[in-house]
Amino acid sequence: MTAKQIVKLVLTGSLSPVDVVETYLDRAKKLNPKINAFITIAEEHARRSAEELEKRLKKGFPGKLIGVPIAVKDVISTKGIETTCASKILKGYVPPYDATVIRRLKAEGAIIIGKTNMDEFAMGSSTELSAYGPTRNPWNLERVVGGSSGGSGAAVAARMAPIALGSDTGGSIRCPASFCNIVGLKPTYGTVSRYGLISYACSLEQIGPMTVDVNDCALLMEVITGKDCFDSTMIDYKFKWTPREVKGLRMAVPKEFFGEGTDERVANRVWDIIKLLESHGAIYEEISFPLARYVLACYYIIAMSEASSNLARYDGVRYGPPCDLSLPWYDSYSKIRGEGFGIEVKRRIILGCFALSAGYYGRYYLKALKLRTMIRNHVLSILKSFDVIVTPTTPFPPFKIGERVEDPLALYMADVDTVVANLAGVPAISVPAGFIDGLPVGAQFMANHCCEDLLLTVAKCIQDETNFHTKVSKEVRL
Ligand code: GLN
Repeated sequence: MTAKQIVKLVLTGSLSPVDVVETYLDRAKKLNPKINAFITIAEEHARRSAEELEKRLKKGFPGKLIGVPIAVKDVISTKGIETTCASKILKGYVPPYDATVIRRLKAEGAIIIGKTNMDEFAMGSSTELSAYGPTRNPWNLERVVGGSSGGSGAAVAARMAPIALGSDTGGSIRCPASFCNIVGLKPTYGTVSRYGLISYACSLEQIGPMTVDVNDCALLMEVITGKDCFDSTMIDYKFKWTPREVKGLRMAVPKEFFGEGTDERVANRVWDIIKLLESHGAIYEEISFPLARYVLACYYIIAMSEASSNLARYDGVRYGPPCDLSLPWYDSYSKIRGEGFGIEVKRRIILGCFALSAGYYGRYYLKALKLRTMIRNHVLSILKSFDVIVTPTTPFPPFKIGERVEDPLALYMADVDTVVANLAGVPAISVPAGFIDGLPVGAQFMANHCCEDLLLTVAKCIQDETNFHTKVSKEVRL
């Protein structure tokens, strides 16, 4: 069921929050050994919340998400529920407070059912780089699920939760959404509070919805957007959406994102979607995006630089691997960080420190910032003449577990289509675009700042015409 359907049945009394939670807990517990979508299934918390909601319902205070279980990426702080970022260094960390998004979800009656697996500190594109082992793609258990919000993607695709939250620094919501045949939206920078989101690269990341369909995506956006005094980067924006027609919609198709390096079958699926929109009155034009060859370098220098600063706080004193206080502080700090961080996180801290160091700052970090401004200006100039920019979400379909993980550059390639939106701060959505040999692929749409409503309008048209979103993998039938 979708969140919307659950809310309806709970409000009419045909279903109780306890029934809903028990059903999803049962699925989650049965399927998790196979998929590894959850790091923590918050069984007790979910049951307790469901019981409290029953009381609230009787008192007549429902909410927009009354009784709806939600899977939450383990990078988002949840009061009383361990939050690990899939890292050994955070093992045993139980946040004393809720992230703003969690507070808002609870206020509307949503129930946290568990914390989902991810690449450690959200650094990766396959959910293989987790201290808790890889998440498996429900469509093919030998394949990756995408990342870094892969646990959230798999949980929704396997219907272990009707909706989920992910975070997206360079594609981490959209990549797993596309690999899992679900909808994933990265909102405009500054529209969803990052308070309580454990930072990786603060100038790029946003929390966003991962859902089976477009209506649930809109519902979740209504709940999580809106100003929050705990995040100083926020703009005054509240999501609203009135579905309309795509007739007259102007689509830009940058040819660089369909050519070399992109699997032809993926490009063809996305072209099918473009033609479908055309048949509904949208118009497209092929354009050139000459900066395409620089987007990955630009993104990775900025993301790693910010990461090296953000991750300096982990000293292992309060949680994480046991800390030997008899050692001099520097030795203890080095030991804990050496044991607590995985290989990719260490690589990024080292590269980020290098890019920020005296002598190299101007050559790498500053240059990347200038390039970022150029990329942003280019995106915004395209969006003066067009409503949306269309690309594949990823250049290739879900790959085999183990195939790319040894080669960082091969993994980074997965982000070539998605990082542009983060660099420019614009919203972007991944919509199911069909299958290649039984593996899902997604089409990505970007729009101008705060034009999420346009993205949902496009996504709704695709959804109504294709019905891809109703397909569920045979692997997850119980
Ligand atoms: N794959 C990208 C990275 O590793 C994006 C990750 C993300 O969006 N959190 O940085």
